[in-house]
Amino acid sequence: MKILNQLDFYTQNHGQKAAIRFGEQNLTYQQLGDYSDRLAAYIQKTCGENKAPVIVYGHKAPFMIVCFLAAVKSGRPYCPLDISMPDSRVSTIADMVNPCISFALEETEADLKRTVSLKETLKIVAKTKETIAPQYRVSGEDTFYIIFTSGSTGQPKGVEITESNLDHYLDWSVGLGTSRKRKQGQVFLNQAPFSFDLSVMDLYTCLASGGTLYLLDKKTQMDFKALIPALSKSGARVWVSTPSFADMCMADREFNQELMSELEVFLFCGETLTNATAIKLMDRFPRAIIMNTYGPTESTVAVTEIPITRELANMIQPLPVGKAKPGTVLEIHKKDGSLAKPGESGEIIITGDTVSAGYFRQQGMTRKAFFTSMRDGKPCRAYRTGDKGYLDKHGNLFYQGRIDLQVKLNGYRIEIEDIEKNITKLDDISHAVVVPNVKDGKVKSLTAFVMGSIRPENRLQFSREMKEKLKALLPVYMIPKKIIHMDSLPMNNNGKVDRKQLGGLA
Ligand code: AMP
Repeated sequence: MKILNQLDFYTQNHGQKAAIRFGEQNLTYQQLGDYSDRLAAYIQKTCGENKAPVIVYGHKAPFMIVCFLAAVKSGRPYCPLDISMPDSRVSTIADMVNPCISFALEETEADLKRTVSLKETLKIVAKTKETIAPQYRVSGEDTFYIIFTSGSTGQPKGVEITESNLDHYLDWSVGLGTSRKRKQGQVFLNQAPFSFDLSVMDLYTCLASGGTLYLLDKKTQMDFKALIPALSKSGARVWVSTPSFADMCMADREFNQELMSELEVFLFCGETLTNATAIKLMDRFPRAIIMNTYGPTESTVAVTEIPITRELANMIQPLPVGKAKPGTVLEIHKKDGSLAKPGESGEIIITGDTVSAGYFRQQGMTRKAFFTSMRDGKPCRAYRTGDKGYLDKHGNLFYQGRIDLQVKLNGYRIEIEDIEKNITKLDDISHAVVVPNVKDGKVKSLTAFVMGSIRPENRLQFSREMKEKLKALLPVYMIPKKIIHMDSLPMNNNGKVDRKQLGGLA
């Protein structure tokens, strides 16, 4: 399903329908189509032969989406960056991307390079008369977007998703958890920032089916007094979020089917959906379907699906993440590289038409994580997920955690080494080891153990000061809850820091 063709269709046939809704602001399909065409013409005129990506920095403004579409209509991928990232990290990414142009829809001190402000962007859209010819558009193996995730080197890495990846993903995701008959024109809830690939599930599934995307910004999400009325007003039929966000909403008793009477489907991805959360949701939303899906950014959002029924939630713990979508093959590779039999655990390998082309300008990393596999006599991209799991005899995948130090905290993907490397950038800190605090199979918080030349007199104050300093280097969700100064760190027999022992101390 070609997203840009779909958008043309809805622009021409349902132009006055709201494509994006944010608070009292509405952006119709006509406006989305026209504005992105004009901005694409401007990008092409300004950047010419420079086909480097377009950075779009901001949060939940409807114009973010105008900029994304303008980039791809001009033949360039876009790279979305959210305000939750500190300026230094944004500048690092901008250095790596070297964009042909950057739209800064929110204020920032970061060096985005060739920056156009929101005010200027609005002026360009209002003044530009030209539009852009369809032959400029990204297509097939061209990169559509680059999403940066935490990297174990201490620097984020950019996952390149092609237009063809997105097409194949949408072939499956449109209608996911809903009957094909009523798939058109639904309201989708957008919770995740656009710099996380979970947002692709709501953004493009919604636009590809002529729906309305209801944006929830960070401020609203943090305040129940604003969140509950916003959810009620959304009229959302399709809910897309991490299970953590639904858990947070359930802290408010009002969060139930009465509040969101039109809600039909919960689409979950990105982290473990516990039996308890699923059952609680079924009690609160008796008319809604709960879908569990699984996948990393590297395979375009999600590659499995399973509806979670009450029977399943009462019988099987932990819950399965489902069967592979069409066009995807799941395999479990054991430590010796051999293929696991049903029920045997190993690393989850994803092969198929939504597997990314690799990491942006990171050939070494790409070669390590991706490889080519033959499927039906044709070469097909495959990705080593680093996830541990097994398949049952029906092809249902069960997720069993990681084989490395990556964690999910409140739905955010974090490489532990990314935090550790950034902590050691702080003055006087020579070593840092971060351990996750796990409860009921989920990471609840992180603790950092650090060594350095200064011995703090007040441990609480030390932790507070270190956390404050880290805000300049890491997004808030990556900053450990506690930072504990140690005179020495426990070692195992191999001479490496014994993370297990520290886990006990956290
Ligand atoms: P991200 O690239 O941010 O989407 O994170 C991908 C990682 O999240 C996967 O490699 C898994 O470790 C984890 N993940 C994704 N979906 C699920 C799920 N349904 N259950 C448990 N873990 C998941």
